[in-house]
Formats: sequence, C-alpha cells, structure tokens
Amino acid sequence: DRLKPDATTDMVCGYCSTGCSLRVHLKEGEAVNLTPTTEYPVNLGMACPKGWEALNVLDADDRATRPLLRDASGELKAVSWDKALRTFCDKFKQIGEEHGPESVAFLSTGQLVTEEMALLGSLAKFGMGMLHGDGNTRQCMATAATAYKQSFGFDAPPFTYQDFEESDVIVLVGSNLCVAHPIMWERVCRNPNNPEIIVVDPRRTETAMAATLHLPIRPKSDLAFFYSLAHILCREGWILRDFVDAHTNGFDGFAQFVQAYTPERAAAESGIPAETIEKVALTIHEGKRVSFWWTMGVNQNYEGVRIAQSMINLALMTGNMGRPGAGANSVTGQCNAMGSRIFSNTTGLLAGRDFLNPTHRQEVADILDIPVEKLPTENSLPYHQILEGIRTGTIKGLWVICTNTSHSWIHQSDARDLLEKLDFLVVQDMYHTTDTAQQADLVLPAAGWGEKEGTFINSERRYGVVKRVRRPPGEALPDFSIFRLVAEYWGVGEMFRRWETPEATLGILKELSRGQPCDITEIGDYATIDHAGGVQWPCTESPEAIDQQRRLFEDGHYYHEDGRAKFLFEDSRAMPEPPDTEYPFLLLTGRGAASQWHTQTRTGKSAVLRKLYPQGVYVEMNPEDAAIAGLESYDKASVWSRRGELKATVFVTPTVQPGQLFIPMHYEETNRLTLPHFDPYSHQPSYKDCAVAIAPA
Ligand code: SF4
Repeated sequence: DRLKPDATTDMVCGYCSTGCSLRVHLKEGEAVNLTPTTEYPVNLGMACPKGWEALNVLDADDRATRPLLRDASGELKAVSWDKALRTFCDKFKQIGEEHGPESVAFLSTGQLVTEEMALLGSLAKFGMGMLHGDGNTRQCMATAATAYKQSFGFDAPPFTYQDFEESDVIVLVGSNLCVAHPIMWERVCRNPNNPEIIVVDPRRTETAMAATLHLPIRPKSDLAFFYSLAHILCREGWILRDFVDAHTNGFDGFAQFVQAYTPERAAAESGIPAETIEKVALTIHEGKRVSFWWTMGVNQNYEGVRIAQSMINLALMTGNMGRPGAGANSVTGQCNAMGSRIFSNTTGLLAGRDFLNPTHRQEVADILDIPVEKLPTENSLPYHQILEGIRTGTIKGLWVICTNTSHSWIHQSDARDLLEKLDFLVVQDMYHTTDTAQQADLVLPAAGWGEKEGTFINSERRYGVVKRVRRPPGEALPDFSIFRLVAEYWGVGEMFRRWETPEATLGILKELSRGQPCDITEIGDYATIDHAGGVQWPCTESPEAIDQQRRLFEDGHYYHEDGRAKFLFEDSRAMPEPPDTEYPFLLLTGRGAASQWHTQTRTGKSAVLRKLYPQGVYVEMNPEDAAIAGLESYDKASVWSRRGELKATVFVTPTVQPGQLFIPMHYEETNRLTLPHFDPYSHQPSYKDCAVAIAPA
C-alpha cells in the first residue's frame, strides 16, 4: 500500500533527444514508479532501459545536497547558500574587474530545460557581463546546427518521426540507431513499406546487422562516397531539375565539382566497391521517399559540416525534401540539445538570432526591456577556445553547469590540467562526485530531472513538458532557482523580475520567437503542450488546430533571404593522425549500449542499468588483429596513444574492421587517448579518429 499510486502524470524523459513521454505514478504528489506513456505520439508506449530507470538514479548516495566550498586546507566543506552565492559573485566580480569581461565564462549543457538555458544565457551575458559561454552541445550537435544554418539559412531539422515509418529508402550514416535511439529504431521497424535500410558505418553495429545493406566505409572517406553518389546521379540525369531550379542555389557548381568524384575514386578511398556505389545511387533514384539520417559518426568529425551537407545536397538534388518519408535529418543527442541550439544565448543570440546583427540585438533588448548596450556585440568563443583561453591566461573563472568536462572532453588530461589552472571553478551539478565537481572550488547542488519543471525540445522540434514529481534532496535547488539567486546576489535581480518561474519564462521565449522560423507564439502554456502530446515548432496557430506531425519546407521555402537552399561542398582533408608503424590502429569511440548515457554520471547509479553493461573498460578488436597481437576475448590489454594509456578487457569480434579498435565513450578512461582536433566551421571535436597501439597488459 505504501507505494500504491493515487494519481499519475506524464512528462518527457530527461536523457536522449527522442523525447519519450513517461507516465509517472504518484503517491501524495511524490513519484513512486513510472511506465511509458501509451498515447504520446513519440514513443507510443515504449521506453528504453534508461527511461524505465529514470527515477531510481535520483536516490543516489552521492547527490549534492549542500553547497560545498574548498577551504584553505584544500577540502570541499559544506557552507550555506548565502555564503556560497556571496563567494561566487565576489570571486567572479573580482576576476572580471582585474582582467576584464573576457576573463569569466560558463560551460553549460543540453540537459537543462529550455527556460533554464535562456535564463542562464541571459543572466551571464546581459546581467553578469560575460562575453563567453558555450554548451556541451558543442560535443554533439554543433555540426548539424552549422550545416543546417549554412544550407537552409536557419538551424532547422526538417523532419518528424513519422518519416521513419513513411520512407521506402532509409539511409543511416554514422548512426547506431538501434542502440543510441532505440525508440526511433522501433519506428523504423514499424515502417510498412518494407524499406531499404542502408547503413553507412565502419563498424558492423546492431543497426548494420539489421540493415538490408551495410556499407563498412573506411573512416573519414564519407565525403568521397557521398560525392560519388552525386556524381552518378548527375551522370545519369537522375536530378529533379524543376525542384533544384525552383528552390536551390549553387547546383551547377556542385555538379561540376562532383565530376572528379568517380565511383572508382570513391571505391579506392572508401573501400566500398564501385558496383555497390552504383547500386546505392540507383536505389536512391528509384526510391519514392528517400530519407538520410545522421548522428555522431558525422557530427563528431573534423569535416562533419561538409559531410552533413553532402547528404543535404543529395536530398535537394533528388527532391527528397519537404515530403513525407524524405529529408536530410539530423538525429540529435541530448534531451534538450535542440533547446540549447535555439535559446542558450551562447554562440547565437536568443531564438536563432545573431550577436553581430544590430537589428537582432535591438529586437532582443526591446523584448527583454534592457538597454541594448548590455548585449555583447560579438560571438562567444566555442568550447575548445574557452579552454584555450585558460591556457593563455585570458580566462580565469569558469562556471560549469550540468556537464562533466574532465571526463567527456577530448584529450581529457589536458582539459583537467586546464581546469586546475583556473583562479575559481564553480560546478553546478546533481552529484558532487563527478570528475569535474571534484576539481571545483565551489559546488552548487542542483535538482535533477523529475525535481523541477520546464520544457525540452526533441529531435523533431517537439516541445515536451518536464514536471516536479520529487522533492530535491537536502538543500539542492532547481537550476532555474539557482540562476535567479545568482541574479539577486549579483545585483541584477530587477533585470530578471519577469523571469519569475519557468512557465513565465516560456512566455518570454514566445515573445523572443515571434517572426523567427522557430516561432512558438501560439504554443500555449504547459497544460496545452501536455494536452496536445507535445508541440513542434513552429507553432503560430493553436496546437489544437494544427497537425501534430509536421515537417518543414513543404512549401519549398528555405530561410535564406532569397528563400532558397544552398549547395555547399569542399574537397576532403587527410586525417591528422593516421595509423603508422608505431600506432598501427585507428580508435573509434561511440555509444556502447542503450542502457548507458554519456559519462554514466546518472545511469551509473542504477543497479539495473549497471547489470546491463560491462563496468570495466573494454576494447573491441578484429579476430585477425587479435591473433597477430596474441590476444583473446577477456584478456587484459593496454591501449595507448600519443596522449595517454588505459587498461581494457579485450572483446574479439568481426564487427570491427582489421586495423580498427572500438572503445565506448562511457568510461572515464576513454578520452585519455583521443586527439583534440575540430571541424573548422562547427568547432565540434572529432572523437572518432586517433592512432593507438595495443598489447597484452
Ligand atoms: Fe526514450 Fe531516449 Fe528516454 Fe530512452 S533515453 S526512454 S529512448 S527519451
């Protein structure tokens, strides 16, 4: 009887970008259990193991329950909120006064609710005078955001999940959808058209095993492969010329450019036979509804923006845009990566605006009723340049919110060393035990998913509501409340008086979105969003009056000034650290299982999820390589790169190609090995290509 629920409420999950709805069972207003919501249009009654276990990770022993301040002896000691906030503001003000507004910065996350992101970005930049702030979405979605912005004129993923069920050709690139987005994969499995499923991935992943065609492409040969498909489509005249002429710019230059990318050249670079490339081009041509989907294999790539655009180009030249079952579609990572892309106020001004544009600055200043001089006139540095700023001594104070830089950043030991150099590091997190929190001078205890309210925006642009169904432990506070308190202690509380609650903030976001492609002026309140089963942007009519499965560009109008999409392309570049005799293997990293999430900060707290996933680091290795190295499954091995070393259990499997190794990203040790290099447009780290060596431990 103690756990027998007396009510239920629905809310979206707080892990991945799928945005499943979970029905939380309540007893006297407190969550006691949950089941997936059956009527929600995203997940249709399904959830992955992380969703099922979402409540249990809130009870972990290492929740941060009181502010912790490092004392003179170097130990983190509990202090009052008053002392914590006074110290935070005093330290950051002192650093700013001595070294200028560039010297303090923030690093945030795609895990906060949209209202919190907008408040943080506005408080930090307009209230506290910071110039620089970025999010961990730089590690997951920056490439897709940049590719869309350049090609379409706005960061606008065009699809709805219904497209998974309506395509007859589904091309999945660098995406182990089965494991990384299992509910989306279920949508593929429900497709009644018996679709061709083409998986482009160096590894024979679970998704590749289920595909109708797996193309085990050589890492970093994607551009040659996709350009050769475009070459064949041009050669054969398989172009939807009316569509191209009416809605795009730059096709003729692109057609000329891809002449050099013959199938034979692509075969030599990618390892995919020329006949297979011809067959794929024919399949795309014959497909009535062809959709391209990509995830981190593309985004976490030093030429990711151009690879994403090579798929956008294919969709545009074949008219596979703005139609059911079509599109060039980025599957995002975190539950609110999409919110971060629009409202975090980091490298872009609120609601998809531009800090460099005086009209945009004035619009925001007018809506927020603040002097326009308070708005920075330049873009923030991206994540890696903020870290570089610590190295060069220009950044001396850092506020890290809900992300674990010391574990997840590429070339981790360097990131850790840099955080040690800071004059003052503030970490705001649910747990005081993360690698980054352990380095902090001040830890601010934050409430987690289920302990606060707001909205997330999922991969298909759908707002979903998060609710408070548990009391945060101890003195932990919702991030929204912490930001409001910081505003008061900083002395700018008046500037944020209207941002009273998350729901009041949604009202401000609606005003900010008016007239933008992401316009949500008619989205209503939380109850309306809930009632509608989530609402996609744009929403300029009542949610009850519009289709709840909408895709963009059905009218052929894109967001560049002339209303046209652009063909963008560029020759590929060599891998900066190819394998050689000393480091003969290429290391691939990625998601290991549906039961774990990123750095395991939360999922590692669930006994159920831990049982579903090996707890010690493992490395996957091809049988041919294992035989040469004298290694067998379950042997211990050392893996090392030019930057660091780890010990791992060997798992011998033909799913990785000879000359390659795979280690999941979830382990604390993985990023000891990775090489810091970045896409030049999106500044996203390229996690999946560095040279390593392996030997029995
Ligand atoms: Fe759905 Fe993703 Fe949550 Fe799993 S983690 S239940 S797929 S939203």
